[in-house]
Amino acid sequence: VTILSVETSCDETAAAVVVDGTTVKSNIISSQVDVHRKFGGVVPEVASRKHLELVNHVIREALDEANLDFSSLDAVAVTYGPGLVGALLVGVSAAKAIAFALDKPLIGINHLEGHVSANFLSEPELALPVICLVVSGGHTDLVLITSIGQYKLLGATRDDAAGEAFDKVARVLGLGYPGGPLIDALAASGDDTAIHLPRAYLAEGSLDFSFSGLKTAVINYLHRAEQKGLPVNKADVAASFRRAAVDVLVDKTLLAARKHQISTIMLAGGVAANRLLRQEITYHAAREGKRVIYPPPVLCTDNAAMIACAAYHKYRRGDFAPLTLNAVPSLPLGQDRY
Ligand code: ATP
Ligand code: MG
Ligand code: FE
Repeated sequence: VTILSVETSCDETAAAVVVDGTTVKSNIISSQVDVHRKFGGVVPEVASRKHLELVNHVIREALDEANLDFSSLDAVAVTYGPGLVGALLVGVSAAKAIAFALDKPLIGINHLEGHVSANFLSEPELALPVICLVVSGGHTDLVLITSIGQYKLLGATRDDAAGEAFDKVARVLGLGYPGGPLIDALAASGDDTAIHLPRAYLAEGSLDFSFSGLKTAVINYLHRAEQKGLPVNKADVAASFRRAAVDVLVDKTLLAARKHQISTIMLAGGVAANRLLRQEITYHAAREGKRVIYPPPVLCTDNAAMIACAAYHKYRRGDFAPLTLNAVPSLPLGQDRY
């Protein structure tokens, strides 16, 4: 089963061709970061226009690199939510047009289900249930996955997403955008015990997250240093911040696994590329006899291969979307709207 997938939910214009949900024939990602960098974040209107310029080229490139033409496709998959509505609409319209022209099934995919599915690309036979920590630019969710397509939300952030906190802290440190990878790199040369920062555990046993207090604590630290004319060691700030964020993510994910007696933990989303998170959760899980899996870094951040993988499982179930499929900007995981 050969699936062409399109992903335009945020600032990556992406298309991929994947066979049977495992063999990635091509995975083209055209990032708009250079365009949005001067604004310090994604500008929705600019993102939509860029997607429109790029989407056909990216799809063409995905087919060329896979050495296939449109007639070899069995289905066309697309992210239809959550994300920026104008951005999503570009991908949804392109995918609908192709599916209609080829008379092949259209498959609508939830972006977060895509992030989760990046794990199944390399491990299609992974035994379920698992606890999945979805950590991205817009989400921080703990999810119990009992079977593919069955998701139970156990906890979520009450304010900022983890990736959003990384990006905001990077901005106040003057590191640039997107901040997650820059903080991750700079933190490697810093002392993570240099600055005392809060860890928000919320009520005892809570599986919810809060990152706004941590972000504010970093901002206050920088303001105080500035007022007193004290020097700031950016690497120490980056390392202390990364440590505080990762401590809470690791502790709560392990708590969820213990509570539900699950022995496999999965990471998904852009922040799953974080080196300290990968290292710490693997170490602490192993001490409890638990295993951790995560995608390679390039499949943690936005891409279309993960969308094709999720689509393969829907294809097998015959779960197709009508050609009236619309973009749904706030689409919860596990709840399709078509
Ligand atoms: P969502 O998936 O919730 O809709 P998104 O698609 O914008 O949001 P992703 O592309 O999944 O988010 O991930 C991007 C986020 O991941 C950014 O916030 C980025 O800073 C963060 N990120 C990427 N690499 C790292 C890293 N190594 N360490 C920490 N954060 C990282
Ligand atoms: Mg992005
Ligand atoms: Fe994403």
